Amino acid sequence: MAICAKCGVEVKEEDMYEDHGLQICEDCKMKGTRSPAKPCGGEK
Ligand SMILES: [Zn+2]
Repeated sequence: MAICAKCGVEVKEEDMYEDHGLQICEDCKMKGTRSPAKPCGGEK
């Protein structure tokens, strides 16, 4: 078992995902999918 680096839940290593070098669970992977780049025209 591995520990999610974000929420601390135990996850099977086969179910872990990597996000910027952190091992995270599927939930965090799904929730953490913020687009790094803002959409066009959102900010001046
Ligand atoms: Zn997590």
